[in-house]
Amino acid sequence: MTNTVSPYANDNIFAKILRGEIPCHKIYEDDDVLAFMDVMPQGTGHSLVIPKQGSRNLLDADTQVLGKLIAATQKIAIAAKKAFDADGITIMQFNETAAGQTVFHLHFHIIPRFDGIELGGHTGKMEDQEVLSANCKKIVASL
Ligand code: 5GP
Repeated sequence: MTNTVSPYANDNIFAKILRGEIPCHKIYEDDDVLAFMDVMPQGTGHSLVIPKQGSRNLLDADTQVLGKLIAATQKIAIAAKKAFDADGITIMQFNETAAGQTVFHLHFHIIPRFDGIELGGHTGKMEDQEVLSANCKKIVASL
């Protein structure tokens, strides 16, 4: 058990997406945030919203960045609910390995939910690129 916080490391996969070193299905971008599809969705239309400023997770994030990030999360959540005519939206955010965090750049998960359909497993199956692309377009069209 430790209370020390590890520093942010800019070799994580989301930092690479921000630098354009690896591709993503982009939903939304402004000066402060980027939203894109999760490649291993836990449900139809699962997306992620990240700040451009690097922080490991919520615990070391700048509060001004957090304000912009949650505002963008709301924007994408509303669009995703409309895009898939979802019954609800789950927002998730994990801090450190013990809590289920696997990518150490702050992010919110936005997952459309449907009555009677359980949430899929965390970091499970890689989705087809065509499906991710089609779902991305649906959210973009609902922004
Ligand atoms: P965490 O476990 O850190 O809360 O969530 C990390 C998320 O990033 C997982 O849902 C996982 O599916 C997703 N993910 C991992 N690698 C990539 C990637 O290369 N591209 C995208 N778009 N998502 C990723």
